[in-house]
Amino acid sequence: MLKGCFITGSDTDAGKTVVTAGLLAACRALGADALAVKPVQTGCSVSDGVMTAPDILRYQELAPGAQTLVLETLEAVCSPCLAARLAGAQAPAVHGLLARLEQELSPVARQGRGIVLVEGAGGLFAPLNPRETMLDLIRALRARHDLPVLLVAPNRVGCINHILLSLEALEARSLRPLGLILTRTGELEPAIAEDNHAVTAEHARRFGVPLLADIPYLAALGDPRGNDIAIARAELARCLLPAAKLLLAGRDAAGGEPKREAEAVSLHSGKREVCLPPEEVLAIDRDHLWHPYTSALHPLPVREATSARGCRIRLRDGRELVDGMSSWWCAIHGYGHPALVAALQDQAAKMSHVMFGGLTHEPAARLARLLLPLLPAGLNRLFLVDSGSVAVEVAIKMALQYWRLAGRPKKTRLLALRGGYHGDTTGAMSVCDPVTGMHTLFSGVLWRQYFVERPSCRFDAPFDPACMVAAETLFAERGEEIAAVILEPVLQGAGGMWMYHPEYLRHMRALCDAHDALLIFDEIATGFGRTGVFFASEHAGVAPDILCLGKALTGGMMSLAVTAASEGVAAGLSRRPNAPGLPDAGGVFMHGPTFMGNPLACAVACASVETLLVSPWQARVQAIERQLRRELEPCRAFSGVADVRVLGAVGVVEMRNPVDVAVLQDFFVDRGVWIRPFGRLIYLMPPYVIDEDELSLLTAAVADAARVVSQAGDA
Ligand code: PMP
Repeated sequence: MLKGCFITGSDTDAGKTVVTAGLLAACRALGADALAVKPVQTGCSVSDGVMTAPDILRYQELAPGAQTLVLETLEAVCSPCLAARLAGAQAPAVHGLLARLEQELSPVARQGRGIVLVEGAGGLFAPLNPRETMLDLIRALRARHDLPVLLVAPNRVGCINHILLSLEALEARSLRPLGLILTRTGELEPAIAEDNHAVTAEHARRFGVPLLADIPYLAALGDPRGNDIAIARAELARCLLPAAKLLLAGRDAAGGEPKREAEAVSLHSGKREVCLPPEEVLAIDRDHLWHPYTSALHPLPVREATSARGCRIRLRDGRELVDGMSSWWCAIHGYGHPALVAALQDQAAKMSHVMFGGLTHEPAARLARLLLPLLPAGLNRLFLVDSGSVAVEVAIKMALQYWRLAGRPKKTRLLALRGGYHGDTTGAMSVCDPVTGMHTLFSGVLWRQYFVERPSCRFDAPFDPACMVAAETLFAERGEEIAAVILEPVLQGAGGMWMYHPEYLRHMRALCDAHDALLIFDEIATGFGRTGVFFASEHAGVAPDILCLGKALTGGMMSLAVTAASEGVAAGLSRRPNAPGLPDAGGVFMHGPTFMGNPLACAVACASVETLLVSPWQARVQAIERQLRRELEPCRAFSGVADVRVLGAVGVVEMRNPVDVAVLQDFFVDRGVWIRPFGRLIYLMPPYVIDEDELSLLTAAVADAARVVSQAGDA
């Protein structure tokens, strides 16, 4: 994570270099270490074999002694793309520039202790090469190093148009700049300059972007050997002190997050469109929209969310809530992550969807290439579906077809764990906990499965082989009927947030092998690092025959799930009968949802998994785990608390009695947090990017709730 910013311009000759130099001086005046980086410098000259970069000279003139770094030098005064072509060199590319930057930055800069000012070339769409522009570099630096953008624009005739185009291009990619800085490259009619200032400030405000400075025309800056240069340099640095202070305070303090108004701006029409009034939204919702696990006629109250960025969800009334739920385990990178937004927008512009029957596409192939090496050993066939429940349906159908074609028609039942949760479609529901899954309501219709008690041995207690007895007995008696075991490894989620010993999985694997049953792991909730390892099955080192993934696969941007199977399972499903009278599926697996392999979802999933892999996710999850333990453990002291348990980025306070969800929800919203308990469980599973203070807000709210509920119970 770097501290600093990317300095871009609304146009060429916007004054970026002067601003960069001024920021170098202002940072120094504030006692901070600062470095200016030119990723690509055009217009360089060679003399005596030494390449001179004009912007570096300028930094030195305006901020003598400045620390500077140039990654690529080119001679011609034109775009980097053309300059490289004229020099017969390879055009600069984002990945190469990033690699060079990471190599050459000092440890101080790399650890975010010094300010790094990366100055682009030209405007946002200045081409680096035939495929990439400066904007791609900005996006990559934001995704990799969380480096925000500062927009520099000249206060001159025609500037408002360029500024608004730039703001809109940045906004559309979730790259809202920290601020705007106006410069003057010559004398300008005062009335025009003032109007530019006022109109620009007003429009920028609409985008949530503050005008940080309007630097006056400093003629002496053009004459570095003149008498007034020292005064002009000091004036430049003074104008940029507020911007430098923002950079030093870091991105969050700089208010880089959205300050959206109640009105939405249509990017297509450019017109302001007023959204439905809040009362109408709530009225339509109340009268016509069904919410999860809620009565249509007497729903629990809902609140209108209008935007979400980072770890915060903003409500219509302007309140911001720190998110403790990751929107049901999905939003591991927080909301509006620029890499995910960019992937979605790029793919939407190319091809949002095509049928997967008879067609394929690059995002699906790229996702497969990315996921395969990460999956438990042996899983190499992927079925891409649209939701977690469907991934479970597919897994169950695979298990049934597998044994049918293997000539074992009696194998029609699944063995599942009490306290498990696998989705709400009928097949998935049949393997959910029979009580919380309300099986009695569907008795006689719902497919009857076998259940054993959830593993009684806790994750953090010694393993007790007695917890296997129920499954061993069932297999001994009914093994002939059991097609597969389905379970959530190590952490049961929505069925009770129970964390059990990984050894259970090793024993279950052995039982399945001994009794010819497939083993299905449902890692829809636990996958992608939530329990502290990439997949929860890694706690046990056990690989299933079929694996279901979903939720965090797309970082919460949209719905996508995967059912992964071993080669053996795939071969079993394709088997043709070798004797008359045996069933024949025609060598195919009969499943194919309309949105199978949706390119948008695949592209976003690639961006999410890549973002996760280049992030220090494991250290983040471990830090969250330590903090959750430290801050939730004291809840045990409250009389109404039955248990406190933490694993990875999941913290659970189990109460002795069911809680009133509506009451607690108000309680939490009043404290500025978004936490939605269920049953007897008040729990947290925040985005991995949450910071310590935000997480403390969440744990304090949970502890407060546990205390208040306990006191009410005591009274
Ligand atoms: N399996 C598990 C373990 C889950 O937690 C969930 C969702 N809570 C599902 C399956 C169902 O996924 P979806 O809601 O995407 O259908």
